[in-house]
Amino acid sequence: MRQAQPTPQSETLPPRQPALLSVVVPCYNESDGLRALLAALTPVLEPLAPRHEIILVDDGSRDNTFDIAQELSRSDPRVKALRFARNFGKEAAMAAGLAHAQGDAVVLMDADLQHPPALIPEMVACWTAGTDMVIAVRRRRDTDSWLRRLVSRAFYHLFDAVSEVRIPPGAGDFRLFDRKVAQAIVSLPERNRFMKGITSWVGFRQECLPFDVADRASGRSSWSLLKLLRYAWDGITSFSTLPLRVWSVLGVTIAGLSALYGLWLVISTTVFGIDVPGYASLMVSTLFLGGVQLISLGVLGEYVGRIFLEVKMRPMYLVADSVGFDDADASGTGRKRR
Ligand code: UDP
Ligand code: MG
Repeated sequence: MRQAQPTPQSETLPPRQPALLSVVVPCYNESDGLRALLAALTPVLEPLAPRHEIILVDDGSRDNTFDIAQELSRSDPRVKALRFARNFGKEAAMAAGLAHAQGDAVVLMDADLQHPPALIPEMVACWTAGTDMVIAVRRRRDTDSWLRRLVSRAFYHLFDAVSEVRIPPGAGDFRLFDRKVAQAIVSLPERNRFMKGITSWVGFRQECLPFDVADRASGRSSWSLLKLLRYAWDGITSFSTLPLRVWSVLGVTIAGLSALYGLWLVISTTVFGIDVPGYASLMVSTLFLGGVQLISLGVLGEYVGRIFLEVKMRPMYLVADSVGFDDADASGTGRKRR
């Protein structure tokens, strides 16, 4: 797999300082770990950027995540929180957080302390030196099960092979964005979001920082293998039309082979006389072609389904409650902001 090359820094870029640093944290059933997250995050942010904001996006949790977020916001006004009307998924939560972040640089991280806050100063240092997007890349994946590692390795190989954007191996959602990158991502109108691909697609100066992923501080991962596979399929269909095109190639190949076979039948019948027709070969070819046609229809259906979801223009998320924001920027439906 190709490695994302760090973009060389230009000597002429003046160093930047974040007047305001935003940290966006999607939270789903994270009531056990939220206080620990804040306790780890605040001492890191305080010396780095006294003016900072922490945006907790409660993605329709079934526990009291939002109550705790409210409490945290009351004791530190730099903590802000949004509550979705239901669980819209991590992608929507990240999009909402980015849309509401006001910072010159925006850090995106998980709530479970798997993304170490201690890396944030290094990320900000990269940004200060002129990088527009700092991608934290996992050194190892040994906190994952072997099955999950296998699935994700297969996915990255496949994604690399079929799509035009490159995802650096080991890159997750722990990233720092310059304001203009965050705005570029927010301005993309698509509802079916695959953040890993979108962030590569937008480009800008990118740099990778290696880090060791920690074990989940509390609770458990909300990603089942099935959910992960669905996510992988969403990712591939969002960034590649190869699954659609492959059927034409297969169709032409099968048609070509059938023509050759037909020619062979004419010749063999003329030379050797009429043979007894084979029941088995007939069944196999009928079933095989039927199967191929159903698969291609299924793939077509997947894309039509995605078009259907996009043309309905439903918002990406609905915000039910918010705390800590000015009224003007507290609302939100995930519609494209201009
Ligand atoms: N998350 C979310 N909505 C969801 C699932 C997860 O906002 O529907 C959040 C979750 O609270 C956490 C982050 O996304 O902050 C990563 O989730 P998790 O730790 O379950 O995933 P993993 O680390 O296993 O990839
Ligand atoms: Mg996690």
